[in-house]
Formats: sequence, structure tokens, C-alpha cells
Amino acid sequence: MKKINVAIDGTSSSGKSTMAKALAKSVGYTYIDTGAMYRSVALFCLREGLIADGKVDSERLNAMLPAINISFKIEDGKQITYLNGENVENEIRGLEVSNNVSLVAAIAEVRHAMVRLQQQMGKDKGVVMDGRDIGTVVLPDAEIKLYVSTSPEIRAQRRFDEMRAKGDTSVTLDDIIANVKMRDHIDMTRAESPLRKADDAVEVDSGQFSTAEEQIAWAVNFFNDYMEKEGK
Ligand code: C5P
Repeated sequence: MKKINVAIDGTSSSGKSTMAKALAKSVGYTYIDTGAMYRSVALFCLREGLIADGKVDSERLNAMLPAINISFKIEDGKQITYLNGENVENEIRGLEVSNNVSLVAAIAEVRHAMVRLQQQMGKDKGVVMDGRDIGTVVLPDAEIKLYVSTSPEIRAQRRFDEMRAKGDTSVTLDDIIANVKMRDHIDMTRAESPLRKADDAVEVDSGQFSTAEEQIAWAVNFFNDYMEKEGK
């Protein structure tokens, strides 16, 4: 069976990663979480003291970019992110990284370096890649493009429930709503490849699904229908 690429873009906490991960697993494709790559660069900046007063020292960061090595490994069936050989999977999901990642992701040189890596990962097809600019910039020829979103309040509630389920009580729902709105704003208004729906992407309102399983089933069906229709 011929393989295709699936590009899944959308806003933060829209359920796109859960959907992309489960779709990849279900159809035997490789899942690539591009947000984890930008999160790793943000963590690197925080550790190196490159962020102060809501600003990134992009000159120093650009000079250090060649020293940032990001890779993924599958461990116990889960994708784990490594930054310069260190497992950073948990640390990159914390609020400090979440609060700073969009600033770092707005820097053109950072994007160029990440896009190059991502295009390399997608060149042999058979990937489900999730991010903000996958259908528009990284894999503009992807056969399936989905754009997933819903209201900031529904998305924040999802993140809040996830954090509480993990026992994390460090943030309030209002903190998360503010973070989601701030990231939307930065992602959609940045000069370099802003978040937007590709003209040929299918729009998915994730608020219509009452469970993650429903959302995943929808995506698997969509994929299977496409493959059948195209005879792949
Ligand atoms: O998907 P996730 O929420 O983990 O992404 C974290 C941040 O990384 C986003 O808010 C966005 O600023 C940035 N990002 C991006 N382009 C991508 C993926 C993520 O700018 N392809």
C-alpha cells in the first residue's frame, strides 16, 4: 500500500496531538510532534539565560543553534524527546516552557532550522506530523491536511483536566485560559509562517467531540475513506 503524509495543524490544546498520535499508531505511521521541537529550543533558551523580560536574545540564540540537537526515541511505545542527549519529555510540558515557547518559535532562524529537520523526517512519506505550519510550510504537498481548533475555554479546560489527572495543582483554570489565548495571539500574528488554515485543509471543530476517543475515531475514518477513494 502506498504511503501518504498527514499534516495536522491547529491551536494549542485542541486535541490535535492526541488525535495525531493515535491516528499514526492505528495506521502504522510515524508520529512527529513538532511542538516538542520548539519546546526543546525554548527549554534550551531558559537554561542558557537567553530569555529576559519577555524577550529572547535572538542574536546569541542564533549563534548557538548549531549546538542544539533534538531527536526522538520510542520507549515503551511512547515518543520521548531528547535535547542534546538528555530526556526532556516531562520538562518541556511545564508551564515555564509553555509560557515562553511561542516567543522562541517566532524567530525566523529557529523556524528555518526546525522546518529543515521536519522536512527531512517527512521525505519518505508515512508520517503524521502535528504543528502550526505543517500544511502551509513544512509539508505543503501532504495528501491529508486537517486544521483542528475550538474555543479557548474548551481547550483550556482540557489542559486543566489533564494536569489535574497527573496530580499537578500548580495552576488555575484562569492561568491556562490566559496562556492559551496568549499563545494563539503570538502564533497567529507572527511575521514568520503564522498559524493559519491551509487553503486545502479540512477544518475540524474539536468541540463537537465529547471524548478523545470520538475525535480519534473520526480521524481514522477520514484517513481510511481517503485511502479507499484514492485507491492507495
Ligand atoms: O503543539 P504545542 O502546543 O506543543 O506547541 C508549542 C508551541 O510551539 C506553539 O504554541 C507554537 O508557538 C510553537 N509551534 C510552532 N510551529 C509548530 C509547532 C509548534 O510555532 N509547527
